[in-house]
Amino acid sequence: MARASLHIDLGALCANWRALDALSGSSVRTAATIKADAYGLGADKAGPALAAAGVRDFFVAIAEEGASLRRALGAGPAIHVYGGHMAGDAAAIRGAGLIPMLNSIEQMTRHFEILPGHPFGIQLDTGMNRLGMEPVEWAAVAELALGQNPVLVMSHLACADEPDHPMNAHQLHVFRDLTDGIAVPRALSATGGVLLGPAYHFDMTRPGIGLYGGRPFEAAQPVVRLSLPVIQARELAPGETVGYGNTFTAQGPMRLVTLASGYADGILRALSGKPMLYHGTVACPLVGRVSMDLLTVDVSALDTVPQALDLICPAQGVDALADMAGTIGYEILTALGPRYARSYSGGAKG
Ligand SMILES: *Cc1c(COP(=O)(O)O)cnc(C)c1O
Repeated sequence: MARASLHIDLGALCANWRALDALSGSSVRTAATIKADAYGLGADKAGPALAAAGVRDFFVAIAEEGASLRRALGAGPAIHVYGGHMAGDAAAIRGAGLIPMLNSIEQMTRHFEILPGHPFGIQLDTGMNRLGMEPVEWAAVAELALGQNPVLVMSHLACADEPDHPMNAHQLHVFRDLTDGIAVPRALSATGGVLLGPAYHFDMTRPGIGLYGGRPFEAAQPVVRLSLPVIQARELAPGETVGYGNTFTAQGPMRLVTLASGYADGILRALSGKPMLYHGTVACPLVGRVSMDLLTVDVSALDTVPQALDLICPAQGVDALADMAGTIGYEILTALGPRYARSYSGGAKG
């Protein structure tokens, strides 16, 4: 079989959630952000595992994700939608019992007209200028909105992965200015904000990337292993070249294997010639360009031709790959394509 395998350790996922939860006080609810199919790992598996571990609040990006997450979770956990209430969303919001984070006066008007009495939250913009009501809008509608009993008032930090960035304290100040004294639960922080300390925790936190083993949660357990099968092996003579563009030339005799995955599977072409592929602890360099469906690897360091090599493993995590590709772990994870055979182990423990 030439299908590569993506293994997801649900036990590590849940352990990461518990570790992040332990960083805030017992009165702070730790939610889980599992938008974009749980950062590419499978929300239908990650969601129920996290729910069994104690997660009562989930966040997704759009209503359609919320509806399919509801099918996986069943009744019970709250599912919040960052994108709010868009035209056409009412049936999904009502049917799946979703909680839209209303981002504008337009969304608020829509929600109150079409789904009066249906739970909602409010997202405020505290400086990122991406989602949420502006302070002047909030000033105009806060009284009306609060009269309808929102379940949450939230905002999002732009620079929380840089603890010393002055934007963090600035957004905290703006958020408090807009919300101090209201009797509604508040949430400001994702993974980075959890690590900034108690002033940033309020009543709920919403980590995502840290659950999946990514920076800035350096203490995270690795969640993902990506193993790529060897399709073919060959011996190269000095001077022979490898792959598109002849970008690699064998300096001496070497053994090369071809693996069944490429940039169509999310192994970014920018990684060409950069990462190692692991056979246990032995590192074998990727050589030549990443193709759409194939990679070429120098396995001269191995005694035998392996059946598969690991691209993501404890020796080389998603952030190491991200650094090599000039991107972030979030993009490495969410790029992991549908062609992989996803398998799962672990789950709720204790
Ligand atoms: C994606 C997202 C999160 C989770 O962020 P991480 O950095 O992955 O922890 C939280 N809140 C909002 C508004 C988001 O868009």
